[in-house]
Amino acid sequence: MPAVYLDQAATSFPKPPCVAAAMTEYLTHVGANVNRGVYGSAQQAELVTLLLRQRLCELFDFDHPTHAVLTPGNTWGLNLVLGGALRPGDHCIVSAMEHNAVMRPLQRLAKQGVRFDRIPCDGAGFLDLAALEGLFRPNTKLVVLAHASNVSGAVQDAAAVGRICAAHGVPFCLDAAQTAGHLPLSFRELGLSALSVPAHKGLMGPQGLGALLLAPDFAKALAPYVTGGTGSASDSEDQPAYMPDKFEPGTPNLPGIYGWEAALEFLQNIGVEQIRAHDLALSRRFLAGVAGLPGVRLLGPADPQRRVGVFSLDFAGRDNAEMAYRLETEYGILTRCGLHCAPAAHKTLGTFPRGTVRFSTGWFTTERDIDAALAAIRALTAE
Ligand code: PMP
Repeated sequence: MPAVYLDQAATSFPKPPCVAAAMTEYLTHVGANVNRGVYGSAQQAELVTLLLRQRLCELFDFDHPTHAVLTPGNTWGLNLVLGGALRPGDHCIVSAMEHNAVMRPLQRLAKQGVRFDRIPCDGAGFLDLAALEGLFRPNTKLVVLAHASNVSGAVQDAAAVGRICAAHGVPFCLDAAQTAGHLPLSFRELGLSALSVPAHKGLMGPQGLGALLLAPDFAKALAPYVTGGTGSASDSEDQPAYMPDKFEPGTPNLPGIYGWEAALEFLQNIGVEQIRAHDLALSRRFLAGVAGLPGVRLLGPADPQRRVGVFSLDFAGRDNAEMAYRLETEYGILTRCGLHCAPAAHKTLGTFPRGTVRFSTGWFTTERDIDAALAAIRALTAE
């Protein structure tokens, strides 16, 4: 029974073949650190790192390669923003759909005296923008938002949030875990102060790597949250204030950087618009297939234009974990069940603590994969 991988929202698979090739090239033929040596292989590694920053700038319509900080992952990027920007007594605004990559750092900061409010969301997971206006306080220092929910797939109107934040003079950080590589995304047009992305989901790179794009004025004000050696300014025991060294202590994930740079070249050759068109075609097929199926409740919007390829199903009267288990063992359909590290989102959508079965698609997902999933869902719910 061939496996049908529909857990792309957790991590994308397969990767373009060039990713493994580039990582192998680094590990077998380059091997040198960056910022620490001037010999040829070190310069080659430096060049690939710069190319990666340049590609991130192109992809996200961002002008400052030095401010495209490479992180050990999206969770780290979000921690750098939350931990670096908020002090006891400060106030932060998040949505009622956040992932624990935001909520856990925020709850930890709350124990130190940071306060926060959640923007309420409707039953599909969309923000109540009018309510956001009323949440700002004189001490509000940051707004953090998941661009698309990893539970409902709903894509928020980030441009509207950006305009509201600008009117209040409050920095806006977007968690684009589920949209980067899936939707065209402009740092400039969304009015962002920070954009955090993982390498390993829609951006097709390896795990253990991400990027945090920082607007220059925000980067200046942001305290470094993790500090250490940078290979630069080695006469000082203080973290350099210049970018990107301020936020990049320690030896970076160079095999990952090589792999991600190759992944982004592959992605840019396809173009995000074409990836979005593919996502939309698959979404229409999946949504049409589950519409009106007895015993199946689809979370999130029915309109494919307002979502990404993340589909949570709640099987009425069934144990969702058992459904996911049977999808795998009897049909080879690989999904993810449970709360998806986002208890807040499930509370908003009314599926806490029961959870859902999540099907998620990517560039390498085919119509046949969707049809196989739909046939399995139909067979299981007809029992
Ligand atoms: N935010 C959202 C919306 C996510 O979906 C995820 C990954 N599931 C994260 C943050 C955390 O990303 P990572 O695990 O790659 O650090």
